[in-house]
Amino acid sequence: MSELADLKGIGPKIVQKLNNLGIYNIKDMLEYYPRTYVDKSKLSHICDAREGESIAFKGIITNITSKKLTYGRKLYIITADIKDETGQIYITWYNQPYLKNVLKENTKLYLYGKVEKKGFFYNISNPEFSYNEKNFFTIQPVYSKNSEINQFEIRRAVKASLEHSDKPINDPFPEYLKKRYDLCDKEYAVKNIHFPASDSDFFYARKRLVFEEFFLMQLALFTLKNRISKEKSPIEIEKYDLSDNFTKTLPFTLTNDQIKSIEEIKKDFRSGYPMHRLLQGDVGSGKTVIALYAVMCIFQNGYQSAFMAPTEILALQHYYTALSLLDKFGIKIVLLTGHMKKHEKEEILHKIENHETDLVIGTHAIFQEDVVFKKLALCITDEQHRFGVQQRTLFSAKSVMPHLLVMSATPIPRTLALILYGDLDISTIKELPENRKKVLTYSVDESYRTRINEFILKIVSKQEQVFIVCPSIYENDVLDITNVISKYQQIQSDIPSLKVAMLHGEMKKNEKNEILKKYKNKEISVLVTTSIIEVGIDIPNATLMIIEDAQQFGLSQLHQLRGRVGRSDKQSYCVLFNQSKSDIARKRLDVLVKSNDGFYISEQDLILRGPGDFFGTKQHGLPEFKIANIYDDMDILKLAQKAVKEEIRDNNVYRQLLGNGLDYLSKANL
Ligand code: ADP
Ligand code: MG
Repeated sequence: MSELADLKGIGPKIVQKLNNLGIYNIKDMLEYYPRTYVDKSKLSHICDAREGESIAFKGIITNITSKKLTYGRKLYIITADIKDETGQIYITWYNQPYLKNVLKENTKLYLYGKVEKKGFFYNISNPEFSYNEKNFFTIQPVYSKNSEINQFEIRRAVKASLEHSDKPINDPFPEYLKKRYDLCDKEYAVKNIHFPASDSDFFYARKRLVFEEFFLMQLALFTLKNRISKEKSPIEIEKYDLSDNFTKTLPFTLTNDQIKSIEEIKKDFRSGYPMHRLLQGDVGSGKTVIALYAVMCIFQNGYQSAFMAPTEILALQHYYTALSLLDKFGIKIVLLTGHMKKHEKEEILHKIENHETDLVIGTHAIFQEDVVFKKLALCITDEQHRFGVQQRTLFSAKSVMPHLLVMSATPIPRTLALILYGDLDISTIKELPENRKKVLTYSVDESYRTRINEFILKIVSKQEQVFIVCPSIYENDVLDITNVISKYQQIQSDIPSLKVAMLHGEMKKNEKNEILKKYKNKEISVLVTTSIIEVGIDIPNATLMIIEDAQQFGLSQLHQLRGRVGRSDKQSYCVLFNQSKSDIARKRLDVLVKSNDGFYISEQDLILRGPGDFFGTKQHGLPEFKIANIYDDMDILKLAQKAVKEEIRDNNVYRQLLGNGLDYLSKANL
C-alpha cells in the first residue's frame, strides 16, 4: 500500500504528525473524513454582514495602516477598509507584519471571515483573503486534529492523496447496486466528501459513504448470524435441576419476564446451536440472577463460564453476589482483573486452565491471550454497550463457539436494536420486581440545600445510605461545576456527624474496593462519587441519590444513576440539583421527575436534545461509525439493510463483498 511518504509535498515531519492522528497510509488519509466544513461557496455583499456570522465577499481595499504596539505584549496591527457597492467593513490583521508588503490599496480583494461588532461598526479580524477569485469561493473541509498540525497541512495531505496515482479507492459496489440505490462511484464520493464542489455534491457523496458503512456492517452481522445458526454446538446441556433449585433458594420470586427470559435461554441451550442472545432490561430489572441461572446450568453439565463486566468495581460486585448466591452449590468461582499481582494471577490462570474453577468473573482481562479455558461453554458480558461486536467475536474465539449472553440496560427502540444487534436474538425484561416502589424524584435549586442536608440526616438515622454524585472529580477552572473533592470536604463540615467517604475513578483499585466494601457493610453512610457508579452497582440499602449539577448529565445517564437506588422494598428518593436557569434544562429534568420508564426517557432525551447530541455522546455506547449517524441516517440504514437482504437472497455480490464486510467488522468499533 502506498505510504504517506510517497506523497508529493509531504515531508517526514508532516508524516509524523499524521501518524500521531492515527493516519499511516493513503487509505487512512482518504478515510479521514472532515468533521465539518467552512462554506465559502456563497458570495455575499457587505450589507449581508451579521454579527457572529461568517461571510465570503469581494471588495476594494483602502486606507491601509499599520502600527506596532509594544506596551505589555508586542502587537503588530494592520487595519484597512473594504468597500463594495452596498457598504463598508473594517478589517484588522494581528501580528502578520509581512502583509504590509502584500496588501495594495485600491485593488480588488476576495475575503472570508467572521463578522464582529466593534462599537457601531462591523469588523473582521484576520480574514482569509486572496487577490484571485480562482479556488477562493469553495467549501473547505475542517478536520479533527490536535495542536501540532493545522488544517492547511491536513488539507494538503488529503489533496495529495487524492491526486496520487496509486490511490487505493476500489469500489466494492457493482454497477447494478449503485443504480438501484442511486449511489455515486466510490472515487467521486471520496473526492467530494473532502472537497465538495457544491452542497448537492456533498450530500450525494455522503449518502454513498454512509450507505457503504451501514451495508458492510449489516452484511457482517448477517454473516455472523448465519455462521452461528449453521454451526452445531458440541456443548451438551441436559441437566437443569441444579439451576432450578437455585432459583428456588432466592429470597424473592422471579417476575414473569425473568421467567420468560430463562425459558428462552433454556430453549437456546437445547437447540443444539450456540446461543447468541441479548438480554435487555431497564436498570434494576434483575438481569444478574438470569445470568447466574445460565451459569448454574453450565456448571451442572460439567463446563466453565466466563462473566465479564466493564469495570473492576462491577466485576467485584458480581463476584460477591455470585459467592453469596452460588457458593452453597459447590461451584468454584474466581475473580480476574487487570491489576492483580503476578503470582496471584498465575495461580488463577492455572485454575482456569485445569478446570479447577467453574466460573471466572472479571474485566477485559478475561480477553487476554494467556487466559486459556479448559471447557468454556458460556460467555456473559454485562452492560453490553461497553463491548463491541469485535469483542463479541473475540470472546467466541476462546472456545468452540461458546454460548453467548450479552446484557444491556440501555433502552433503545426495538427496531434499532434489531438492526444494531442483528446477530443476536433478543430477550426483553419490561416489568420491574413487584416490591419496587417508584423512586420519588425532585428537581431543586440551591435554595433547597439546607432542607436536603436535613433529609440526608433523616435517611441516615434510619440506617439507610446515601449517594452524592458530582459531574467531576477535581476543581475545574473553566467550568463551575461541583467536584467530588470539594463536595466531600463540604459535606463533612456541613454535617460533621456523618460517616462520609469518596469514590472516584482515579483512586487506586485497592482503595476503591475497600471503600465499596465498607459501604456495602454499612460502615459508611454517605458516598460522594462520580458517574463511575452509573453502571450496575447494587446496594439495596441505599435509598437516597443526590445528583449535583444534574443539568450536566444526559437524561439516560441520570436514569441509570437513579437506578442505583430503589433496589429494595424501601421507599427511595432522587434529588436533582439544577444550577441552570435555562428552560430546556428544567424541562429535561422534569422528564425524570415524571417518569421511571427508561424507554420513554431515552425518547424524550432524543426530542429535547436533538439527535446529533443524543447519539453523538458516547453514553449510549452505540456503535461508532466513521461517517454515518444512526439517528440522522435512519433512512439510509433501512435502505442498506434492505439491500443486504436482497443480496443474500439473490446471492449476488454477497461472496465478493463478504471479505469487505468481515474486514470492516474486525476493524470497526461497533
Ligand atoms: P440489573 O438488571 O440492573 O442488573 P440486578 O440484577 O442488579 O439488576 O438486580 C437488582 C436488585 O434486584 C438486586 O438486588 C436483585 O437481587 C434484586 N432482584 C432481582 N430479581 C428480583 C425479583 N424478582 N424480586 C425482587 N428483587 C429482585
Ligand atoms: Mg446489572
